[in-house]
Amino acid sequence: MIIEPKIRGFICVTAHPEGCAATVQQQIQYIKDQAPIVKGPRRVLVIGASTGYGLAARIAAAFGSNAATLGVFFERPSMRGKPASPGWYQTVAFEKAAQAAGLYHKSINGDAFSKEVKQMAVEAIKRDLGQVDLVVYSLAAPQRKDPYTDPPGHLYKSCLKTIGTPLTIDTIDTTKRVLHSTTIDAATEEEVEATCKVMGGEDWERWVEALEEADVLSEGAHTVAFSYIGPQRTRAVYRDGTIGRAKDHLEATAKKLDRRFKQHGGRALVSINKAVVTQASSAIPFIPMYISALFRVMKDKGLHEDCIQQLYRLYAENLYSGAPLQLDDQGRIRLDDLEMRGEVQEAVDALLEKVTSENFDTLIHFEGYETAFLNLFGFNVPGTDYNADVEVDHKLEGLIPQTNGQPAEV
Ligand code: NAD
Repeated sequence: MIIEPKIRGFICVTAHPEGCAATVQQQIQYIKDQAPIVKGPRRVLVIGASTGYGLAARIAAAFGSNAATLGVFFERPSMRGKPASPGWYQTVAFEKAAQAAGLYHKSINGDAFSKEVKQMAVEAIKRDLGQVDLVVYSLAAPQRKDPYTDPPGHLYKSCLKTIGTPLTIDTIDTTKRVLHSTTIDAATEEEVEATCKVMGGEDWERWVEALEEADVLSEGAHTVAFSYIGPQRTRAVYRDGTIGRAKDHLEATAKKLDRRFKQHGGRALVSINKAVVTQASSAIPFIPMYISALFRVMKDKGLHEDCIQQLYRLYAENLYSGAPLQLDDQGRIRLDDLEMRGEVQEAVDALLEKVTSENFDTLIHFEGYETAFLNLFGFNVPGTDYNADVEVDHKLEGLIPQTNGQPAEV
């Protein structure tokens, strides 16, 4: 079948298996080209392992320090001749490469918020690995069905809204390729709370509890979750809005968990990562414009990074460098250091002050944003033949079947 991109707003509903495989291979190659992470993790659980930062965390652990990896994610296999979701194809490619390198790789495709998926992960660790020494929590989800509510299964939906007053911002209509204004509504109390339930730290803590209870965390184990701060320009929408409130909760959870992990010689930390194009971030209204400007500035200054560069730095220069951890005054790892440099933000601001519908194609690097967006779905990847007939049905050899024998609920 010939697969073409079908874009609907900020999502592409098709994915190209060969292009997805090529992007995974590029990330693996990047890690292989770096110095090995000698004291890196050996047995790793990644929750949210199929795309974006979680996939990079899995690749960097496997190919940077020969780690055995167990990945948890929520992806759609190909059905009735329709392509699978990109994270499915990316995991197929990761597994093939891990298999060829003789590395343990198993995957669980299901709802990470559920008790069942936590139990499946615990059992797989007990059976195959004994314990894990790193747990990466990299979920970005639009909703969470909470099995711990009474009655169980209350559905919380996250939203990106301001807190207090609505705000009108300029953004790029990526379909029409014009600048336009959009108003971000102010959230209700209930929406703020629901967003914290989905994107805050509660589920991360539940994972840690399940792993602790089963005694599958090694002595000295670490856990890390990802957060974002961003510049003053996006503050009202992001960090002071609903998602920011959830990130406050995630960061507070890290402090709570850190006290427990420290007792066993490990750490529970939040890493503040840089803004990158992922399926989650492309849904945020200011992202296409801000990232296009950031790409222009960081590429021009030779500072450009994507998920894989960030994750290599997280392991090699922070968590597993052997040197004391470099943390900010809130106890967080700062991988956004290059993005937040004064010279970078000043240059981004100067561009965004001048940008119009007429000049945004050339002034900021919108083409770079578009390419990065298409790459997420395996399109526009150099070396991929998009005119070739491709097989859409790819099996995940390392997939652990659901305990109830049912396919994952997707
Ligand atoms: P992403 O959309 O690329 O990845 C999300 C992952 O979560 C995927 O593996 C997906 O399968 C999985 N997932 C979603 N719902 C699930 C569910 N119910 N059960 C199991 N798995 C599920 O997102 P991302 O941008 O890599 O985000 C990961 C984390 O990094 C988030 O906490 C995000 O806030 C943070 N972060 C992102 C950026 C950025 O610019 N993208 C910057 C800093 C921090």
